[in-house]
Amino acid sequence: MSGDTIFGKIIRKEIPANIVYEDDLCLAFTDITPKAPTHILVIPKKPIPKLSDSTPADKELLGHLLLTVKEIADRAGLTESGYRIVINTGDDGGQTVFHLHLHLLGGRSLGWPPG
Ligand code: 5GP
Repeated sequence: MSGDTIFGKIIRKEIPANIVYEDDLCLAFTDITPKAPTHILVIPKKPIPKLSDSTPADKELLGHLLLTVKEIADRAGLTESGYRIVINTGDDGGQTVFHLHLHLLGGRSLGWPPG
């Protein structure tokens, strides 16, 4: 159920990660180089390389990822202060790991626009 990326290895528990949430469809773990006091990555177990590779068949999965990241943000105490969800997509989007992932960033005021 997982592709050949570093995140596939994390899903298969071949390399360690600080996992904060897991269910049948997705996994969440802290980013190895956090860009904010809270920086959690939420990934589907299905190896979709980029958001632009998703299809209508992924509708429920994509909805599940959004509801899950909202729940993780709430558990992290970010609902009141706010937070940002980022999906870098492709080269211009700054994507470096080609397994779809949502960044949850919070715990400080985040600038806009992004660089
Ligand atoms: P992207 O740039 O593709 O949107 O985000 C990839 C993220 O994965 C980066 O924020 C990077 O720090 C994180 N990352 C890369 N390799 C690892 C790893 O082995 N473990 C964890 N926990 N995060 C990683």
